[in-house]
Amino acid sequence: MPLAPATPTGHDELAELVHGRCDAPFLDQLRSALSADDASITPDPAGRGDHVRRRLHGLAVGLPTARELLRTPERLAALHAWTAVAEPALCMTAVNHYLLCLGSMAQLAPDHEALKDQFTALESGRAKGAYLITEVGRANSHLATRTLAEFDPDTREFVLHTPDPGAAKFSGVGALGLPQTAVALARLVVAGTDHGVFGFVVDLGDEHGLLPGVEVSSVLELGALPLDYAQVRFHHVRLPFERWLRDSAGIRDDGAFHDPLGSTDLRLRRTLCVGQTLWGALPAAAAALARQSAVLALRYARGRRSQGRLAPGAPLLTYRTQQYAVLGAFADAFALTCAADRARAAWAACLAPGAEGDGGADGMAFGPWAAVSRPLAGYKAHTVRAAARIVADCRSHCGFSGHLDVNRLAAYQGFLDAFDTAGGDSRLIFFDLGRARCEEAEPDHPDAPPADPEPGPGWWPAVARAHERRLAALLRRRAGGPGHDDLGTWNPLLAQAGELGEVHAARLAADDVRDTVAAVRDPALRDLLGALATLHGLRDAQRWAGSLLTAGTLQPQQVRALPPHVDRLCDALLPRLPLLEQAFAYPQRIVRAPLGAADYNHALADSLSWSHGGRT
Ligand SMILES: Cc1cc2nc3c(=O)[nH]c(=O)nc-3n(C[C@H](O)[C@H](O)[C@H](O)COP(=O)(O)OP(=O)(O)OC[C@H]3O[C@@H](n4cnc5c(N)ncnc54)[C@H](O)[C@@H]3O)c2cc1C
Repeated sequence: MPLAPATPTGHDELAELVHGRCDAPFLDQLRSALSADDASITPDPAGRGDHVRRRLHGLAVGLPTARELLRTPERLAALHAWTAVAEPALCMTAVNHYLLCLGSMAQLAPDHEALKDQFTALESGRAKGAYLITEVGRANSHLATRTLAEFDPDTREFVLHTPDPGAAKFSGVGALGLPQTAVALARLVVAGTDHGVFGFVVDLGDEHGLLPGVEVSSVLELGALPLDYAQVRFHHVRLPFERWLRDSAGIRDDGAFHDPLGSTDLRLRRTLCVGQTLWGALPAAAAALARQSAVLALRYARGRRSQGRLAPGAPLLTYRTQQYAVLGAFADAFALTCAADRARAAWAACLAPGAEGDGGADGMAFGPWAAVSRPLAGYKAHTVRAAARIVADCRSHCGFSGHLDVNRLAAYQGFLDAFDTAGGDSRLIFFDLGRARCEEAEPDHPDAPPADPEPGPGWWPAVARAHERRLAALLRRRAGGPGHDDLGTWNPLLAQAGELGEVHAARLAADDVRDTVAAVRDPALRDLLGALATLHGLRDAQRWAGSLLTAGTLQPQQVRALPPHVDRLCDALLPRLPLLEQAFAYPQRIVRAPLGAADYNHALADSLSWSHGGRT
């Protein structure tokens, strides 16, 4: 089935899909803010703090203010996508600075004017923002914060304190001599009573060093995503009243605390509302890294001639296994792009006045994340994990070159692997999603599995939905029906709960791909993206084959029928790769990887300095 070339309107529509409907002038601003830097892509640890400060400052002066960006999800998502591709560690810094620190301040400070100095320093890029939630001594620390903020009724200040070394926080704050402001999560205590976890704005240090009462450890090296990570402790740091991100809560003049939310779990959920911001933007970064990795793998496989005896001199891309990797990466990256777009839209919906949370306060068994927003936590966990797999596959199909730092794939993978843990542990999110899914009332006779795969964009979403229902019914039976909340019930079922959570999130993404393709206006582009979506679905079915066969969602003969369909789609898509490559690729002066150059061997050799022997 030959695919017709897309028309010029199809090209425009594809670009719009890829860049999440972000306006062109903002993308131009991003391009110049990120190309302005000619520093090494892996800065020396000694100069890393200055490097990060300079790049963050470049973003601050080149782009609208953080609070403007926080009101335009498509721009903030693009900012994180582009910084991830340019420099993953810069993206991690932006996540802390824009999404979590400034995001908390913007959403939870009732009076921005009272925090004017902090907003100005952070928004101008003079200070770097951090977010301190994790406590180093215990697992699941996010459910039981131990850092204290005690209210002093005489001065109406708060006293921020780390009760013991296990309650120390952790973030990329180890570069001293750099103005840094953090939002630190602490348990509010008023007149000896615990009122739940709130954010507090605390200055960690300025140009001269750390501020009194702040203690920061030496740097903990993390090669996969290099930043100046360090532990932080507070020793009775006094904070003025306005540093309390109190949202709708308050303390009256007589010292009486009030909170309309009425429970510490609901307050924790609200304090973590920046999770929606993070999980609305992070999928865009994951999708961008997957797309750029697909482009790098394509350029390598197309340009590199294999000396295999069956066809000496043939490009690597001639070979089926390279096609599966490269075209599969394009298909899966397209799927992530659709999911990222829906995540961004779900986040935008959360910003609408009067929007309700979509988490369910009872969903905090393993972590607080799914209670903040089930769909967005699911999008985060799914897109980051899927992108890590795509990048790893691209990397392994680029040989030695895939391992070179200069070619960026290792850094992309480091970022994605780190975010499986960071930003809400994905494993815990899947556990909570699986448990929540199992509690939903649903007929206990799941859909019949679809018949033989008739390749089309609707096949995989139908299979995934049937599979999700089967797994949910199975888990519900094993858990003895809804309402069993004890460790004895869930401990033997954790792996199944995680599997159900993962399939649930994969199904959300599968629906997004199908719906995105159906809404494409240009017919030739719709056919092309339909083929890409189908290839993605067949690959996901192959990836999940063990689970699908075990649950009886697919039969062995159905799984055996998949490879010929995959081959046919590869043949149809190969001639259309240039259009996809053009749409998916980020500018080479942002990526700065020789692997992305038209002639890789020359580009790599030119990027090196050479020493010459001999005495002349
Ligand atoms: C690169 C990087 C940067 C980070 N930056 C920041 C930052 O800036 N600020 C910040 O506050 N935090 C930061 N974090 C910390 C991050 O949020 C935490 O690492 C993460 O939430 C996991 O917590 P933990 O490390 O305590 O793991 P643990 O809670 O100790 O979990 C360890 C393992 O056990 C599993 N596990 C935990 N509990 C259970 C359970 N009940 N049942 C079954 N399995 C369980 C987890 O899934 C995980 O695999 C960063 C992490 C990374 C990797």
